[in-house]
Amino acid sequence: MELDRTPLDRIEPFVGTERTETVRDTLHGVRDLLDGRTVWHISDNPLRGGVAELLRANLPYLAGEGISTRWTTLDGPPEFRAFTKSLYHRLCGVGPEEDAEDLERGRRMYERTCAENAARLAPALDRRAIVVLHDHQTAGLIPHLRAAGCTVLWRAHIGTALREELAVPGWDFLHRYLSSAHCHITSQPGVLPAGLPAVDRRVLRPSIDPLSTKNIPLHPGTGPSGLLAAAGLVEEEGGAPPGGRALAGLLVRRPARVVRDGGPAPAGAPLVTQVSRWDRVKDIPGVIRGFAEYVDPAFDAHLLLVGPETGGDPQAGRVFAECRQVRAGLGRRGRRVHLVQVPTGNPSEHALTVNAIQRHSAVVIQKSLAEGFGLTVSEAAWKGRPVVAAPVGGIREQVEHGTTGLLLSDPRDLRGLGEAVNRLLSDRGYAEELGRNGHQRVLRGFLTDSSVLGFARLLSDAAQRYR
Ligand code: UDP
Repeated sequence: MELDRTPLDRIEPFVGTERTETVRDTLHGVRDLLDGRTVWHISDNPLRGGVAELLRANLPYLAGEGISTRWTTLDGPPEFRAFTKSLYHRLCGVGPEEDAEDLERGRRMYERTCAENAARLAPALDRRAIVVLHDHQTAGLIPHLRAAGCTVLWRAHIGTALREELAVPGWDFLHRYLSSAHCHITSQPGVLPAGLPAVDRRVLRPSIDPLSTKNIPLHPGTGPSGLLAAAGLVEEEGGAPPGGRALAGLLVRRPARVVRDGGPAPAGAPLVTQVSRWDRVKDIPGVIRGFAEYVDPAFDAHLLLVGPETGGDPQAGRVFAECRQVRAGLGRRGRRVHLVQVPTGNPSEHALTVNAIQRHSAVVIQKSLAEGFGLTVSEAAWKGRPVVAAPVGGIREQVEHGTTGLLLSDPRDLRGLGEAVNRLLSDRGYAEELGRNGHQRVLRGFLTDSSVLGFARLLSDAAQRYR
């Protein structure tokens, strides 16, 4: 995949000269240590989810400072995708509940797909390459790449499991591949089970890029409300300037596909949103129920559950169908709930729409049952939005309860979810304060320079230790 090269100077206006210089000096030191070795990243897909978002944000800065960097994604048949999704749910501790034999039945197919990918990549990889394999889908490549002489780092973006006993078969399945990596990297400590082999372990916190289309500030002519009107999600404000309307329509050309009663949310209605893949781990049905049952209707708030188009992704289609059913089952109480599929054909249009949704939100929810990091939390906080989130995985590091957002006491606590949203909708001053604090927290620790610096230090070690 072609990578842009972004000079670090571009991030300097956000993080200041000192931080920029630290990263630049470190990267130049690493570049010399690497002495021409290429750093490869292999992940499951180039577009969807946090891993793709993170790599798209970080790698151009590494390439921009002269680190030879490549990123490629796996080829795999639909049964590989279905299998790795089920493995993911196991590792996240959200089931399935059957015994571990179903995983064993998929092993041959999993190994065959990984072997085919390793063989496809072999001509491009030389023995000096450092390869970073992302998540469980790529773990089966580890033994092949080690045999080819590469340095292999395995990075898990998966979070800790809510019910650890459900995750055990998943980790047992991966054990034989993971034991041959040089190093295991996680987004927070304590993710990997004790039973894994004692290879080097490192923690690297993810980050968001303030320069990406997902996070850039929106200017008055193309403000969030104009873009959301163009996407068909919010009624057009009477006072929008004609020039701004035309520009918004140029930037967001395809309306979102929405399941709702009636039309878009009224222009002045407070929006409560969750942006996530259509995945069981994100507990979107729980958000719908919590909102419909416990958020006070007097606020006239509308709930937008936002995800990508589900075409070509049968598992996502099933979760969407379930959400639709849950919504329909709520009758009148579900009438302010909108299920939104944002078109994915044009990635920057997609990112801009998500940016506008997050900026326009009165409250942003992330009610995941497991989360490696949860980029959406930092994305919302960076935009000054107050967050209500489940206390799982990396969310616990991002949200300081009562200061930068509100954490539920339990990820399944629907009443707590509704009460937290009510609190923020009724006390807008407090909500604004949480948003401001959240922005500062992201600025301090979760912008691209922090994770590029962490990765550069890791590469520096890898270049010296694993020759
Ligand atoms: N995202 C998006 N469009 C959607 C849903 C999600 O662009 O319709 C993005 C979201 O903004 C974030 C990433 O996908 O950047 C999700 O990352 P996160 O770490 O929150 O969760 P993951 O999907 O990796 O479990």
